[in-house]
Amino acid sequence: MKANFSKDNNVLIMGLGNFGGGADAAIFAAKSGASVIVTDLGSPEKFAKAKASLAKHSNIDYHLGYHDEADFRWADIVIVNPAVAPNNKYISIARDAGAVITSQIEIFFEMCKCTTVAITGANGKSTTTALTAHLLNAGLQQQSPQRKVWLGGNIGNMPLLDIVEDIKEDDVAILEISSFQAEQLAASELAPKISLITNLSPNHLDRHKTYQAYCNAKESLFRYQSLDENAPAISIFNLDDEITAGWLEKYKLQKGRCCKGFSVCEDKSLIENFQLLGRVNLYNLAAAVSICDCFDVDREILVEAIKDFKSLPHRLEFVANKDGVSWYNDSIATTPQSTIAAIEALDCPKIIIAGGYDKKLSFKDLGKALSQKAKAVILIGESAAAIREAIQESGGNCHIEMADSLSDAVLFAKKLGCVGDAVVLSPACASYDMFANFQDRGEKFIQLVKSL
Ligand code: ADP
Repeated sequence: MKANFSKDNNVLIMGLGNFGGGADAAIFAAKSGASVIVTDLGSPEKFAKAKASLAKHSNIDYHLGYHDEADFRWADIVIVNPAVAPNNKYISIARDAGAVITSQIEIFFEMCKCTTVAITGANGKSTTTALTAHLLNAGLQQQSPQRKVWLGGNIGNMPLLDIVEDIKEDDVAILEISSFQAEQLAASELAPKISLITNLSPNHLDRHKTYQAYCNAKESLFRYQSLDENAPAISIFNLDDEITAGWLEKYKLQKGRCCKGFSVCEDKSLIENFQLLGRVNLYNLAAAVSICDCFDVDREILVEAIKDFKSLPHRLEFVANKDGVSWYNDSIATTPQSTIAAIEALDCPKIIIAGGYDKKLSFKDLGKALSQKAKAVILIGESAAAIREAIQESGGNCHIEMADSLSDAVLFAKKLGCVGDAVVLSPACASYDMFANFQDRGEKFIQLVKSL
């Protein structure tokens, strides 16, 4: 059911978080004049920054460090953070009491007037999203400069609701959509005009429970696209991924939908000007180009625009060269697959720092890649023992060190590194066991490397 915001409503923001989404929702609700309560289980000190961004709205109260059932009965509308599982007991309490349950992303889709483009997948979402926005921006600048490209969703701390009224019909919104957000959109059967999936591999199984359920959440971005023969929905799939190639087959004959596939980019004029490392980024490039093709962007414009696209922070980001050893921060690598991608992207001998919060993913393929392609592996965090076991079971004999902290890991790496080596923080795991988030982990790593 669609939520209507007005001064007569009580709005509960469930989950403030530190990624901007909770604060964006709170500002949106507060501007409607509604009475707003923000609640989050995290301790109040954690939210100093998010709270500061809300300071000028006097109609917001904070119930931080706990949830109170009474708040969930009080609310007419609950805006749920994507990090909260849909079967949460407090959501049921609110629903039973008659509240509309919604989310930042659902409200955005209900209000957004322009063409929406969603990019999802297990890996490469943020890179593909940022790259698409960068290239399309150049393309539209040339075609009709008044059209704007808006970038948002799961990427960075970008507000969606605070800007939704500034978006014009002719604009384009490029959105990174996580599996959690896809699940929220599916609850209202909402989907974008153009959907693209980069690839699939098991992720977030602690929340989705099965790989099937995870894939199902992602697929909803295609399932609920509205089919219109006069203005077809566009569905774009990775042809080299078995599951997404299967989706292309499944959807391609549907009327009112135009299906396209992409594979690794082979266009030399683009590749020569592209600064990002590794084959996986050639997939991301092909994906971004396939979206630009939907808007008829000239190839020459793409070739020019690609020259100044740099890797996003924490994604195989070059940090420093110390005594002939190159240090890279790939803290965003929160899945075994993305760490394998990092290992494959660099040609030199590699010392990999891995391990972190255990999302219950299999480390089998990672163990094999590390034992075959890493010179040494330094393990930290909750999952250290499981990764060590996977390396040992794969029969490899790469050097393994167990470190108690990131700073110990950096010292081990310094000791092991020789001229021409690369040291890469590419954890293959989330960061929550030792850090606030992956940015915090990456920034601490950069500080440690710079102070060596
Ligand atoms: P996401 O937003 O899906 O987490 P990012 O674009 O932030 O993805 O990239 C995270 C990491 O995943 C990168 O550092 C890289 O190692 C790996 N990666 C990027 N693109 C791909 C891809 N297309 N396939 C597999 N791994 C990838």
